[in-house]
Amino acid sequence: MAEDTLPAVYRGTVLHFLRDPGADDDPDAWELFEDGALAVGADGRVRWAGDWSALPEQHRGEVVDHRGKLIVPGFVDTHIHYSQYDMIASFGARLEDWLQEYVFPTERKFADPDYADRIAGLFLDTLLTCGTTTASVYPTVHPTSVDAFFAQARQRGMRMTSGKVLMDKQPDAPDFLSDAGVPQTEEQTRQLIARWHRNDRLTYAITPRFALSSSDEQLAMASRLLHEFPDVTLQTHAAESRPETASVLARFTDARSYLDVYDQAGLLGPRSTLGHCVHIDDQDRSRLATTGAAIAFCPTSNLFLGSGLFDLAAARDAGVRVGLGTDCGAGTSYSMLRTLNEAYKVVMLKESTKPPHRRTTLSALRGFYLATLGGAEALHLDNHIGNFRPGKEADFIVLDWTATPTLAHRTALARTFQERLFAQMILGDDRSIAATYLMGRRVRTPN
Ligand SMILES: [Zn+2]
Repeated sequence: MAEDTLPAVYRGTVLHFLRDPGADDDPDAWELFEDGALAVGADGRVRWAGDWSALPEQHRGEVVDHRGKLIVPGFVDTHIHYSQYDMIASFGARLEDWLQEYVFPTERKFADPDYADRIAGLFLDTLLTCGTTTASVYPTVHPTSVDAFFAQARQRGMRMTSGKVLMDKQPDAPDFLSDAGVPQTEEQTRQLIARWHRNDRLTYAITPRFALSSSDEQLAMASRLLHEFPDVTLQTHAAESRPETASVLARFTDARSYLDVYDQAGLLGPRSTLGHCVHIDDQDRSRLATTGAAIAFCPTSNLFLGSGLFDLAAARDAGVRVGLGTDCGAGTSYSMLRTLNEAYKVVMLKESTKPPHRRTTLSALRGFYLATLGGAEALHLDNHIGNFRPGKEADFIVLDWTATPTLAHRTALARTFQERLFAQMILGDDRSIAATYLMGRRVRTPN
């Protein structure tokens, strides 16, 4: 056994995706090798994936035996707040009250670099324990919160996206969390981009919190920076709840819709990822598809805050890229398996607004696509991660079919691979993650 020695070959059941398998599990969109091999080079990149019996001579090497378990690319969480680590599971508030009562007082603490550093470490270790190897992460307005997060991510060798939260418009940005003037905020952001963007595996994301918390001038600045730096990304929230959407339309009277505010500000493009998009229409979806902007679907958060049911089928049918997000601390689990469980229920409940009002389902294959390659595509990182194409960074996880007695029992009765995978998607959680690898090296996690 040579788990920390590269190059290496990982033997087990190997599953990955080449594209979205769609609602009908398109057989050309995914590859499954029941007795499979994943060969990783000394540089931590994928060299080859396929059947064990077909492993080419030149890729043979030290073998790490994961037979009886499932090897998939590391999970990608497209929307999460490390700054809310203390306040997950806070009771009884919808979005606006939630922000004022719980989020903003908690985020205030990130002015303290020692606190930010400690929480960033706890947060990233929690992600690794859950099999999440990449995430698009919101810190706070404080540059110290960005420095702490990126430093901890870099220390662990993780591919992460983040950037200073921008907010300067009261009352949606309280005075104790408000940016100073636009010139000072722009300078802070430029310094952070210079320090962290493309530093090892890190990507900087321009991060206006949401339309209501930024002044028009600050939104314009965000757009300016997004266009000036050709490969930074943008993350924000959009159309999460009905009252929020109504408040946006009351302020931006020229806008046709919430998304139109971002469109007019020049913030929609292929490097933009918008959290939620629960309350959007076909015209919005068309603009998202045309501009290439992606949606982060956050089912546990949308259910927990009572925000609404995201229409996954409509978004994908319109050609919009979609990834999966936990949105912790409004989300209720760091586990992408638990998140897929809730995503399945949201899809089951969501009735199409258009005749014939068909109901759809979320298959296990499409679910695992969303949690891996779909997330990488939504974050504009699919040239680096997301599947086992040769040359990709070898971030992967090993899933245990017998992690709990219930899962083991159900798995033993499954007749097909899809049935087994669905049991994992519905019954699995952090206990299912037998191992997490970053660039082909095993991460020591508490479980
Ligand atoms: Zn969020």
